[in-house]
Amino acid sequence: MSTNNNPLSRRIGLPLFDEITAEHFEPAVLEVFEKTKDILKQVEKDAQPTWDALFKPFEEIDLDFEYTWQILGHLKSVKNSDKLRKVYDLLMPECTRISLQLSQSVPIYKALKKLQASPEYERLTSSKQRIIDKQILSAEKSGIGLNDADRKRFNEIIKRLNEASSKFTNNVLDATKAYSLTITEQEETDGWPESLKRLTHSAWQKKTNQGSTNQDFNKGPWLITLDQSCYIPFMQHCKNRNRRFEVYHAYTTRASEGEFDNSGLIREILALRHEKAQMLGYKNHAELSLSSKMAQSADNVFEMFAKLEKAAAPSAQKEHEELETFAAESGFKEKLMPWDMMYWSERLREKLYSFTEEQLKPYFPMPQVLDAMFNLCTRLFGITIKSSEYPKIPTWHEDVRFYNVFDENDEMIAHFFLDPYSRPSEKRGGAWMNTCRNRRITDGKLVRPVVYVICNGTPPIGSEPSLMNFYEVNTLYHEFGHALQGMLTTVDEADAAGVSGIEWDAVELASQFMENWCTEQTTVEQMARHYKTGSPLPKELYEKLKESQNYRAAYQMQRQLTFAKADLYLHGEYDINGSETPFDAFRRIANETCVLRAYENDKFLCSFTHIFAGGYAAGYYSYKWAEVLSADAYEAFIELGSEDKDAMARTGKRFRDTILALGGSKHPAEVFRMFRGRDASVKALLRQTLGL
Ligand SMILES: [Zn+2]
Repeated sequence: MSTNNNPLSRRIGLPLFDEITAEHFEPAVLEVFEKTKDILKQVEKDAQPTWDALFKPFEEIDLDFEYTWQILGHLKSVKNSDKLRKVYDLLMPECTRISLQLSQSVPIYKALKKLQASPEYERLTSSKQRIIDKQILSAEKSGIGLNDADRKRFNEIIKRLNEASSKFTNNVLDATKAYSLTITEQEETDGWPESLKRLTHSAWQKKTNQGSTNQDFNKGPWLITLDQSCYIPFMQHCKNRNRRFEVYHAYTTRASEGEFDNSGLIREILALRHEKAQMLGYKNHAELSLSSKMAQSADNVFEMFAKLEKAAAPSAQKEHEELETFAAESGFKEKLMPWDMMYWSERLREKLYSFTEEQLKPYFPMPQVLDAMFNLCTRLFGITIKSSEYPKIPTWHEDVRFYNVFDENDEMIAHFFLDPYSRPSEKRGGAWMNTCRNRRITDGKLVRPVVYVICNGTPPIGSEPSLMNFYEVNTLYHEFGHALQGMLTTVDEADAAGVSGIEWDAVELASQFMENWCTEQTTVEQMARHYKTGSPLPKELYEKLKESQNYRAAYQMQRQLTFAKADLYLHGEYDINGSETPFDAFRRIANETCVLRAYENDKFLCSFTHIFAGGYAAGYYSYKWAEVLSADAYEAFIELGSEDKDAMARTGKRFRDTILALGGSKHPAEVFRMFRGRDASVKALLRQTLGL
């Protein structure tokens, strides 16, 4: 195919989604790969320690990647096909090789170090300085400073860690698959909702290949598995306590023995990470991980956690006593154990907040939810969001919409695609935001940011609009928070604009901040009206919805703190050669942190893929960390009272000019201080979730 006819060769404006097909990617991406290698060679040949010499040549390449490789990744998620997957798999290894070549280039690294120590560095913007610092740190973490012998060992460790993580995940999947419990007695299904009976009966049919011979889900048998979709409703509704214990035990000891045993891998992964961190000059893996994060040190995290823990303890005690009393009054004569918690807290929830999703849904038609969210953005940030009037913006599906964002002077500043509905055959599940084109200035010309907001809502049926459940509404606000950070950025370098270059533990600040508004009164008044009658959400239902968000929040907080502390401890001070096993350490930390005593055989670590196979090693704390930041940021608006519109707009403008505008151009702690006038405090989170 000649390049001229390839819609991917156009590197200006919006991608030509109506013309791009799977066949276009291979030639276009390969050409970009070649160009990158050429430029890399040229830069390496004469690597002068100046910004222009080291970064300018790559500017165009960055844009080329956005217009080819990133579009491939995007389409693979929203319009998957065998052809796209094949071309992606074909090109992926080469892409990995090139990015390694780039990050491990010794001449470039040396020149960057010189630049960092030069007078020019002092004159650069903080954005450019941070891009340089990050590139140096990332090169060092990939082992660039090691001698040959050490590098060999280092690469062995990386290789083995990749294998071990992958084996760890597979063991969890296989152990989950290997377990099932068949229930045949009707009386053991006491308390089960119909949906659970249907799910487990169809699982039994599938497993035993019974096909259509036994269609009656009420008669059983029922097959219980450890999939979340079965485990959670089972633990919430199964009245039979022995069965609850049995399944709980199976779940918390998953992958801890037999064929799919992860306990050896846990020790090995911890030991290898420790060795790797020490080779790079860090005390342990936690120190290595935290060196490139907002929190900076494990001590800072522990300090924040200690405050949360201390404040939450009385609330957790109270919650526990309430639950005990409620269970006792309902005829439960034993002491509450871990396998009783989901069951009894679900009963209490039903008593306290007796509303269903079905009751809420008619109040949340998607067009109205979107309008209210856009309105909120105008109220807070002074921006206007308008559906594009241009008749034919190319998209990848007819349901996708395109919007323009204008500032207070009516100047167009950004754009986004919204892909709202689920399409199980070609689109992956969940919701996410992604950058289509980041903001930058190249050759003096401004490139405006474009982002994707992807959801998986229920499509409209006939003349009925798409009705959203509250979880979907919350998710939409969350992703739109990321999108706002992608669109309202004012940074001129793509590497630090939008969500790029932001420390991992600060990335969820803007998204969780937006979630808070889903239950704010004015927003709810605009967003939640019955799609047929236009009547507002009944006050009583609104109150229940709002309160239910914080149901047993202290218990939840103690659990999250346990996971996060155990993760930091195991990757930090923990001594692999000491007498305490990782499981002992986990249970000790759980018992120090929670009201409820941990199960004595708990081996949850064996299925903790976040930290042993995902990217969360010594980073699980980020969830809570970002929650503290976002609650504190939201509190700045609450403090004003909703009456004062001008003060609200001023605070909103400040939020936009700092958190949403500065991206990765400054340290997130500094950005937070610019907005709040001080460091983040745990007070707001404690007040908002625990009423303290
Ligand atoms: Zn997020």
